[in-house]
Amino acid sequence: MNTQDTLNLALDNKYLLLTPGPLSTSATVRRAMQKDWCTWDKEYNGLVQDIRQRLVNLATTAVDQYTAVLMQGSGSFAVESVLGSVIAKHEKVLIINNGAYGARMVQMARCLNIEVVELVYPETSTPDLAEIQQVLMDESISHVACVHCETTTGILNPIQDIGRLVKAAGKVWIVDAMSSFGGIPMDIAELEIDFLISSANKCIQGVPGFGFILAKRERLEQCQGLARSVSLDLYDQWHTMEQQNGKWRFTSPTHVVRAFYQALLELEQEGGIEARYQRYLNNQQTLSKGMSALGFERVLGNACTQSPIITTFLYPASPKFSFQQFYESLKQAGYVIYPGKVTDLNCFRIGNIGEVKQQDIEGLLAAISDYCQTHLHLSAVTA
Ligand SMILES: *Cc1c(COP(=O)(O)O)cnc(C)c1O
Repeated sequence: MNTQDTLNLALDNKYLLLTPGPLSTSATVRRAMQKDWCTWDKEYNGLVQDIRQRLVNLATTAVDQYTAVLMQGSGSFAVESVLGSVIAKHEKVLIINNGAYGARMVQMARCLNIEVVELVYPETSTPDLAEIQQVLMDESISHVACVHCETTTGILNPIQDIGRLVKAAGKVWIVDAMSSFGGIPMDIAELEIDFLISSANKCIQGVPGFGFILAKRERLEQCQGLARSVSLDLYDQWHTMEQQNGKWRFTSPTHVVRAFYQALLELEQEGGIEARYQRYLNNQQTLSKGMSALGFERVLGNACTQSPIITTFLYPASPKFSFQQFYESLKQAGYVIYPGKVTDLNCFRIGNIGEVKQQDIEGLLAAISDYCQTHLHLSAVTA
């Protein structure tokens, strides 16, 4: 086979990603990558400035108070850039951890030699507000970081309630809203968030390659010289983008940036974040109802908030169930799901974000029902 045939074969083998990013993008977002963009050209830099402004507009009505910085790498690079650039040497961060992404922030802070206080909660429950309030009395804590939608389970952490405590205690408030920003309505000024982190390949529905930070301008202005890394220096990245009209310090992911711009226009066209949220919510509810009719049990109980982003299900009780076989048979049918990430529980995850509509979820449910009948000899219980 020549290289052309190999490529065609790979492109023909289509499936829908029901994963929390990278996710299924629109054909037009992918088409925006069909040209090579000059990285220092005025046209490209203007696009970067436009993207930064659009991100601020999506995040808040208090647009003068906030600024956006784009950072190369996956979402974790953007998180590490914030942790490593906004906390001074003598300061200390409280990290609230109820999942893999909270744990990753703790790992980053320790690696960067930042003093950390960690509050750990089970992955299937939300943090304890009274305990947080208690710990915040420690005056040596200067910053607090928490994940909004913990993609480990799909749980939605109460950032409004936690933020109120953080601000009452006078600390800097950092939120990893990687998998929720753009898919769940929020106003970061109302939430009093100082630094919010997200990335191109989640709810904005772009392709992977960079993350972005929405920062309270007066807070970021105080971060010059604090960074523990050159490449991930948030202040320097921002300062260059501000001073040089959208210029990135080092090579930028040009195709990804252009595709992201297209994704932002398509978000607007869909009706903005509220409309996208409704679509995700409808996907999640269709999925939840259908899975429950097929006998699958959700990992998150009704007591905590299930996000519309991703849902975690327990393996069915049948000894005939094999995740690998389940995964492969769904992939054959055109759907790719995600393995579980919860410690000590056999589970898998299904994402609702991306270019995914109700009929896609219905198609997936039919494929799952087929699998259950063929391999587990189970048929749907009536809902
Ligand atoms: C996706 C995600 C990240 C970043 O993960 P990367 O693999 O580095 O892109 C961080 N936090 C949360 C909550 C996420 O969902």
